[in-house]
Amino acid sequence: MYHSILPNEQHSAAERFLQQVPALIAASSLCRRLKPVALLIDIAPMTLIALPHSLIANKFQLSPRAAQRRDNVIRQWLAQYEPDLYQVVLNLAQTTPAEVSRQAQAFKLWLTELLGTSVMPCHYCGSLSTVRIGYRLNFRCRTCRRTFNPLKKYYLDKLSHCELWLPFVDLLLQGETFKTINRQLGINTDTAAKWQRYFLGIMELQGFLVLANYCQIKRRQRCRQIWLDVQAGTTFLPTGKSHFRSK
Ligand SMILES: [Zn+2]
Repeated sequence: MYHSILPNEQHSAAERFLQQVPALIAASSLCRRLKPVALLIDIAPMTLIALPHSLIANKFQLSPRAAQRRDNVIRQWLAQYEPDLYQVVLNLAQTTPAEVSRQAQAFKLWLTELLGTSVMPCHYCGSLSTVRIGYRLNFRCRTCRRTFNPLKKYYLDKLSHCELWLPFVDLLLQGETFKTINRQLGINTDTAAKWQRYFLGIMELQGFLVLANYCQIKRRQRCRQIWLDVQAGTTFLPTGKSHFRSK
C-alpha cells in the first residue's frame, strides 16, 4: 500500500520496519493495554502513509482515540528505528488531501478507459479478433464465437446506467447522501447504496485505499452535518434542497 505513496528510496526502510513490528510488539510493555496487539500489525502500514486517525478508526471500527493511541505507539517505534522514514511520514501528513485527489483522478481515468474500451482480447480463447457489441460493454469473439463482459471481473456488470458512474463517483467524493444522489442522478436510494458498496469495493480492489477511506469519512461527516442541521431546525426534511446542496 505504501508503494504508491512513499518515495522509492524509502521502500526498503518501510519493508524493514513492517517486518520488525511483530518483534517490537512482543518486546514492548506499552502494548499490553492495546489489545488485540495483532491489530498494530495491520495499522502499521497505514501509519506509514500518514493516514489520519479518523480513517484508521473507521477501517478497524475503533474509536478515534483508540486509533490514535495505536498510531502513536507505531510512530514512536518509527522515530526510534527508522528516523529518516519517520521524517518522510511527517511530511506526508500535510499532503494527504493531495494524495486523495491524485487517487480520485487515477480512479476516474481507469474507469473512463474501462468504459471506453474498444479493443479487448477474448476472455475465453485470448483471440484479439473481438468486437464490441451494444451499449453495456459486451464483446463477441469472432474466433470462438462466445460473448464476454470485461466489467464482470470487477462485478460492475451487475450495475446499470454506466453513463452515470463517473458523476456518481464525484458525488461519493463529496460524501453526498443517497437522497441527494437520488435527486441529482435519478437513481433510487437503494440503488445508490448498492453502487456505493460496489464502487468502494472496487476502489479497494484496485489499490485506491486512501480514496475509499476518504469517501466513507466524507459521507459520515456529511450525514452528521445534516443531522446537526435538522437538530438546529435549519433543514426541512425531506425537501431542504438548498441545505443539502450547500457546499
Ligand atoms: Zn474467443
